[in-house]
Amino acid sequence: MATQNDLFKKVISHAKEYGFVFPSSEIYDGLSAVYDYGQNGAALKNNIKNYWWRAMVQLHDNIVGIDAAIFMHPTTWKASGHVDAFNDPLIDNKDSKKRYRADVLVEDYCGKLEVKIEKEVTKAARRFGEAFDKEQFLATNPRVVGYQEKIDGILKRLGQSLEKEDLADVKNLIEELEIACPESGSRNWTDVKQFNLMFGTKLGASADSAMDLYLRPETAQGIFVNFLNVQKTGRMKVPFGIAQIGKAFRNEIVARQFIFRMREFEQMEMQFFIPPGTQKEWYEKWKDTRLNWHKSLGLGEENYRFHDHEKLAHYADAASDIEFKFPFGFKELEGIHSRTDFDLGSHEEFSGKKLQYFDPERNENYVPYVVETSIGLDRMFLAVFSKSLQEETLEDGSSRTVLKLPAVLAPTQVAILPLVKKDGLPDLARKIQNDLKWNYAVNYDEKDAVGRRYRRQDALGTPYCITVDHQSLEDQTVTLRDRDSMQQERIAVDQLDRFLDEKLNPKYWLQKI
Ligand code: ATP
Repeated sequence: MATQNDLFKKVISHAKEYGFVFPSSEIYDGLSAVYDYGQNGAALKNNIKNYWWRAMVQLHDNIVGIDAAIFMHPTTWKASGHVDAFNDPLIDNKDSKKRYRADVLVEDYCGKLEVKIEKEVTKAARRFGEAFDKEQFLATNPRVVGYQEKIDGILKRLGQSLEKEDLADVKNLIEELEIACPESGSRNWTDVKQFNLMFGTKLGASADSAMDLYLRPETAQGIFVNFLNVQKTGRMKVPFGIAQIGKAFRNEIVARQFIFRMREFEQMEMQFFIPPGTQKEWYEKWKDTRLNWHKSLGLGEENYRFHDHEKLAHYADAASDIEFKFPFGFKELEGIHSRTDFDLGSHEEFSGKKLQYFDPERNENYVPYVVETSIGLDRMFLAVFSKSLQEETLEDGSSRTVLKLPAVLAPTQVAILPLVKKDGLPDLARKIQNDLKWNYAVNYDEKDAVGRRYRRQDALGTPYCITVDHQSLEDQTVTLRDRDSMQQERIAVDQLDRFLDEKLNPKYWLQKI
């Protein structure tokens, strides 16, 4: 059986081989934790962006989208707390000289205990068969309960130590759990230190007048500083939201999980401005709405779970992650945070400008509270891509690699394949391509035997192949092949648009939310 690690390696090599993700500046041996998206990757990424933007902006008449600059006035990052508090606890192994995030070492240790729980569940499910009650098993099996209590205890202590900035205790925890460096196997650790994750740069040509800037570590602040601009010019009434998709930069201490943790990445964030006191209800609503967005893509509900935070960031009164089952286990995909009035309040204080809203219903001025939804676009890409990549054994014993991307996100939605390169078949195929390309991402391919072309389209994640053969010239029908079932059916050329619309129009996917 393939291990998690094999699976992950397969994801990385498939992403490269089929033009989805390349290491950055690869001819110079790449740059650590920076990646480029290739021709199919860029298309998939754009489709994810559109799917998010439609769901958040187009379908909500009280949410608008902006595009703020990456560079911001440096005081922004004082006000937001990033200069003082955007730190990760780091620890070095003295033998391997490798640097780790101390909290991640502890979380990975808990991840291993979770794998043990899963194994017990699988074993028991096999033993009890139909009668197996997972919930009851999790609540009563002494071994499982023991593991779970251990996990809860460790995470609680980690959360409390980080909250109190008690870095010595974080080190104690690592020592008590006998966590060894994955590289050297040794437990020869340095003390835990704080490390600021922002990248600095300079604005201006002359040395004297140059101003120290940061590359933004999150897109959210570009929204907060524009709160009044948007509220006034858009005549927005609280509650309303501002959404944004854009690059963010973090000098991550450990970045070895492909596009899961990058130093340059993209975020899709939405800040929802609400009256003070209503944050609980909006927080719950956005948790639900965002989970439903994920579920609408059909990657399997069992692959998502909420993780409510023990340790709250300095700005939050509640926070939860939507975690996804990546090839290396359940990890954060999206954060939903109740940010109180911290950000607007703090920008008021630092800028000296009022950032308030007059609420005609309450007949009062206030600094709105905020509930934020924040998802990493690259992480979303990895979630979709890794879950879609499957190795199947077919009835005849052969195997195929198929990328079962949600059809609405596929880089190529329809491939048009003339059976042979002669007898007028390419002409009809081109005509069909020219008709369909206005509504769908279409790819024309006439090279190699048709079976090989199907395999290639399977590996690229193309949900539908249309094959034009000699019969097509006579009766204007083509073969339509479904990627997942591999079923082929004959369909009239003039019915193609209707068929594809039902399968590919984002409307039918988004209506599930
Ligand atoms: P983590 O705990 O994994 O470092 P975080 O809690 O710091 O993430 P947030 O600041 O809440 O992350 O950012 C919101 C989202 O941005 C995350 O849920 C994640 O999807 C994405 N994200 C954060 N850091 C990175 C990164 N280095 N590379 C890719 N995506 C990232």
